[in-house]
Amino acid sequence: MKYIPVVLLLILISACLGAPSTEPDPQTLPTSKPRVSFTFDDGITNDILHYRFEDWNKMILDALDKEQVKAIFFVTGSNKLDEKGRYLLSSWNDWGHRIGNHTWSHPNFNAEDNTVAIFERQLLQTNSVISKYSNHIQRFRFPYLKEGNTEEKIAGIRTVMAANGYQNGHVTIDASDWYINQRLIKKIREVGEQAADIDAFRDFYLTHILERANYYESLSMQLNERHIPHTLLLHHNLTSALFLDDLIEKFKSEGWEIVDAPVAYEDEVYRIQPEIVPAGESLIWSMAKASGNYEELLRYPAEDSRYEQPVMDSLGL
Ligand SMILES: [Zn+2]
Repeated sequence: MKYIPVVLLLILISACLGAPSTEPDPQTLPTSKPRVSFTFDDGITNDILHYRFEDWNKMILDALDKEQVKAIFFVTGSNKLDEKGRYLLSSWNDWGHRIGNHTWSHPNFNAEDNTVAIFERQLLQTNSVISKYSNHIQRFRFPYLKEGNTEEKIAGIRTVMAANGYQNGHVTIDASDWYINQRLIKKIREVGEQAADIDAFRDFYLTHILERANYYESLSMQLNERHIPHTLLLHHNLTSALFLDDLIEKFKSEGWEIVDAPVAYEDEVYRIQPEIVPAGESLIWSMAKASGNYEELLRYPAEDSRYEQPVMDSLGL
């Protein structure tokens, strides 16, 4: 007797009615390729050299738009209340990027005089600024990725974040783009744009970011045994304006997939809170530190200008 079992019939009917609305975003599915998303910190509103603020800001937004990728912008609050600050937040918000919290005035939580109470005020003050924007998110990124230097401070700020509905705006790939940016601007000021050899800075920048990305991906593969969707920390600065386009291409040419930062944070890896003192650095670095298996490999701080300075000196950058 030929008949279609009821279960099969139901499957056929549901297939005809279309996919269920709970179907996962393809970007969240397991992948055989390394994946990276982009996050930007701080948010400044001044012209840089001859680049008008509105222009260099738009260069970053254009590079993201060209790839149709959504980033998260973790901003300080103190300089976002004037006209330029509001323009900056609106521009990112209206292009569909998310706005996260990066304190009011960028203090270092590991400094002796920065208490949990001070950081709670820092979080709440900036929350009151960004919450007016439709694309704001309740994620908090620690300045310098310093999440506390005593058990009391670490537990205290985690309680404050949870009480305010906030999650950690973790970074998995940390680097020193801010330092390359600083040296590029200094060089252009000294010798002019023609003589500054922007291409050499671009090459160094691309090599540096990919090198750090591959380092953290390799460490992550050992710890997680899969390709997690990474969050790369970049800054709102001139190197992002000039080189982001090429950086995205470089990642793709080396086999990486580009994913949206809000989607990356949906991965379970971002719910991990490694128990180390001091807390912070890249999430992957701190997971490795907490495991106790990588003492030889892990430098502290994980990333810093001191590691890039000799190389840039020798290249004349
Ligand atoms: Zn910052």
